[in-house]
Amino acid sequence: MLAPGHTSRMRKRYTEKQKKDFKERFIQTRRYQIALAVPVFGPLLLLLAGKRAVADLGLQPMLLGTALLLAVAAGFSWLNWRCPACRKHLGWTLNPPCCPRCRVEFSS
Ligand SMILES: [Zn+2]
Repeated sequence: MLAPGHTSRMRKRYTEKQKKDFKERFIQTRRYQIALAVPVFGPLLLLLAGKRAVADLGLQPMLLGTALLLAVAAGFSWLNWRCPACRKHLGWTLNPPCCPRCRVEFSS
């Protein structure tokens, strides 16, 4: 039995202003997440298509640079891609309708 007045973490009540705030922060978070494609795919494309760049710079620094960028991007993504309300990681979808933990809505 739950004690009277018990509020589950799963169904936390937010004010309308907070909900609006979470939606705006989610949009910003998703922008950062999408922007990650540039440092992740840019060097990969360069590596695949830019044989000339590889010839000029050498393969090893290009591979190291790509690996470093991927590691930084993965770390940033892990920290960035979280619910603005409860900070739970949002998984592998880029457009979740709501948080899997606290159920705060992201789409209007
Ligand atoms: Zn949440």
